[in-house]
Amino acid sequence: MFGLDEKCSVMGVFNVPEAAKFTYFGLFSLQHRGQEAAGIASSDGEKLHITKGRGLVTQVFDEKKLSLLKGNSAIGHTRYSTAGEDSVLDAQPIFARYDLGQIAVVHNGNLTNARIVRDELIKEGAIFQTFMDTENLIHLIARSKKEHLYDRIIEALGKIQGAYSLIFLSRKKMFAVRDPHGFRPLCMGKLGDGWVVASETCAFDLIGAEYVRDIKPGELVVFEEKKEPKSIQVFEPTPHKCIFEFIYFARPDSYIFGKSVYELRKRMGRELAKEYPIDADIVVPVPDSGVAAALGYSEESKIPYEMGIIRNHYVGRTFIEPTQAIRDLKVKMKLNPIKEVIKNKRVIVIDDSIVRGTTSKKIVNILKEFGAKEVHMRISAPPTIGPCYYGVDTPSKEELIASKMSVEETRKYIGADTLAYLSIDGLLRSVGNDQSYCMACFDGNYPVPNLN
Ligand code: AMP
Repeated sequence: MFGLDEKCSVMGVFNVPEAAKFTYFGLFSLQHRGQEAAGIASSDGEKLHITKGRGLVTQVFDEKKLSLLKGNSAIGHTRYSTAGEDSVLDAQPIFARYDLGQIAVVHNGNLTNARIVRDELIKEGAIFQTFMDTENLIHLIARSKKEHLYDRIIEALGKIQGAYSLIFLSRKKMFAVRDPHGFRPLCMGKLGDGWVVASETCAFDLIGAEYVRDIKPGELVVFEEKKEPKSIQVFEPTPHKCIFEFIYFARPDSYIFGKSVYELRKRMGRELAKEYPIDADIVVPVPDSGVAAALGYSEESKIPYEMGIIRNHYVGRTFIEPTQAIRDLKVKMKLNPIKEVIKNKRVIVIDDSIVRGTTSKKIVNILKEFGAKEVHMRISAPPTIGPCYYGVDTPSKEELIASKMSVEETRKYIGADTLAYLSIDGLLRSVGNDQSYCMACFDGNYPVPNLN
């Protein structure tokens, strides 16, 4: 099975004593970006140490394992994948020994020409250890004839396409790089005398690091002891930042692409209330994904906000189990309404997206069971009409309800009294009418072709 979608988190700590511990806590904050596997590689200046495994960050690491990850620099990863065989081999960091020494890499994103590059490498004799697109990079670097790792990384980047926020660790240096489109976020911060890099700023908050700036699309930053980080603009930036990070994926307490996720989500809710008002008694979010947008909708519409549905936090995201039967059960395990809040009310329910329609259908059904008089579903994003090739897990086009049903057909399918989605213009207004976003899942304009 090849072509796993990787919607992950990456974290790097450079020149900070006990770097692995800081990486651990950073990954803990980034756990929402991937719950399947976690790993950390550290460097003590002489050699790299690595631990990775399946499960949550707290399951993979304990005090003893962390204490073996010696050194002042470390990189880490949490993995989110829904396809393929789950194997610890597919956990990151990927580590290798090669002619220049040792190297480890972590990747958030998805390479769109991975299959072609991999096939070529295999033809030339490369022996792959994993099914991950990221492994291509290690082979390209190991096979390069250039003298320095820095030049080898740049040469390898020239051969890959798609979405990548990457952190490389060698014995003495750390390298952070973002693809020219900047699909996935990557932020840089200061921690004491050292530096940190992470997918989202919420990782900095926990470890007491100070956000400095985003790594720019197409930029490579080299971290080296006793030197200021060196920035090289490897590629001309052509920004297509993932707008779905704002809608769903990132944590609301993060700043990504330089903006507050929470603020933007609230604005999406406000825009939705302006575009699709309706007379009702309460506004209820689907927790947690609809909370900020529901607050915005409530503020704009002046209809009271109520926590009418409670989420059981001990259940993973509904996407993680692959079969439909289990997905259905999981929605019920996860969300339960409060009868006193719902009964005899006209309810506006807010969620961030409808993908297959499973969640919305169950929610409408359950709210009616609990006595709601009317259920008006409002979605704080446009209809999802296409899969993502750049690192967000979405099912194939055939499984996306909005690609095969009109809004009215979807409304009937989920059983709501009304259904409305935020328009593409409304979404753009919410993010400040900035055109530098990728919205391929909503408008079908794919900035990079998928060659896999
Ligand atoms: P569905 O039940 O298939 O319509 O999926 C919609 C639900 O999944 C919503 O509650 C979303 O918040 C959530 N969701 C949307 N996109 C993703 C994603 N890429 N991974 C996990 N959950 C998602």
